[in-house]
Amino acid sequence: MNPTKSEYELFEALCEIPVIDSHEHLVPEQEYLSYAYSGLNMFAGYLFYDLGSAGLDPEFQATLRDPGYRSVDHWWPVIRKYWEHVEHSSYARALKIAVKELYGIDQINTDTIFELAELIIADNTPGLYDRILRERCGIRRVVTQIKTVSFPNDPILAGLTHYPVALHPEFHGLDYIGRISEAAGGGLETLDDYAEALRKLMQQSVQEGSRGLKMVAGDYQIPDKAKAERELRQYLASSDFTMESMALRSYLLEVCLDVVSEHDLAAVVHGGYWRDFRENDPKHLLGFARRRTDVRFDLLHLGMPMIRDALLIGKNLPNVSLNLAWCPIISFEQTVHAINEMIDLVPMNKIIAFGGDYYMCVQKIYGHLTMARQAIAQVLSRRVSRGDFTKDQALSIARMWLYDNPGRIYRVN
Ligand SMILES: [Zn+2]
Repeated sequence: MNPTKSEYELFEALCEIPVIDSHEHLVPEQEYLSYAYSGLNMFAGYLFYDLGSAGLDPEFQATLRDPGYRSVDHWWPVIRKYWEHVEHSSYARALKIAVKELYGIDQINTDTIFELAELIIADNTPGLYDRILRERCGIRRVVTQIKTVSFPNDPILAGLTHYPVALHPEFHGLDYIGRISEAAGGGLETLDDYAEALRKLMQQSVQEGSRGLKMVAGDYQIPDKAKAERELRQYLASSDFTMESMALRSYLLEVCLDVVSEHDLAAVVHGGYWRDFRENDPKHLLGFARRRTDVRFDLLHLGMPMIRDALLIGKNLPNVSLNLAWCPIISFEQTVHAINEMIDLVPMNKIIAFGGDYYMCVQKIYGHLTMARQAIAQVLSRRVSRGDFTKDQALSIARMWLYDNPGRIYRVN
């Protein structure tokens, strides 16, 4: 990439703005270090999917995320053949930037891969998160979503509540009812029992410090208690019941949203790209987000690839903000176009510019954040040079997107 002089100057100025990283899947650092990653993890984040798509043997692919020491001789000869086909993707670009800027390695190839693996191993020491996130990235807080919401040993992390009822069954298993029962310690029989148990679990996670509820866009129905009760009875009567109808899930999700509303938290909605992304279409917000005007929804990933739908939903609905987490590494170019159109369409206080969306390669957050800053600099500097606003105005817009808005929406500054 050859930025223009003004674009580069703006990029440099953006690097001085503190960042709230609105979306990761990071586990506590102590747990991360216990996995003793040894280099292969750098190819196992989202690159995992590009390598599989390029033809990497699924059985080998399935081992990419295994923890523990893995010898470079064992994995590089297999990965190398497919790396050549994916190294120009946006997923790979985050890796290449991280490796170059953090470890001084210009090219990933057979000559450098052993050195890279050694550097990753050497970096696996306490303070890794602080060195990468705070010192190198300028990140002040990270909103992370794993199965816990409190991080007593990692003050940089803040958690989201994560209940299967709000997530897509394909991500977290069909049996969300069984999981509510398990989490509540059993003894649940009626729909009211389940709703009350879920409410208590939500309240408990708020007390532990949850900053919001993670959910997935879906065709949720207007809550209908009679239908939901019928579905629950079917489920309890037969272990084969597959929970495909949305009545029960819609009813219980409403209970979660009530708690989110009472505590003025964010409902964080995965929209768009992942597996069968027809089901997660951001247009579903036109149903549930218009009905629940008491809840603040943060729509993730600009609903990629349904970006224009997401932009117009963010434009129209006062209770929906737009979050560019993951976007620059899905497609840098789509993100640049989207940011430009977003300025035409969406109020500036409703945009969150960054979430890295990683869990097993913290270094790549640096590469991803660099790409997010590059995309913002590219769009804003063009707007400055054509006279839409001044450089100072551009910087105050960027500060809102990177720091003020995520801090306010997630209550973390
Ligand atoms: Zn995510």
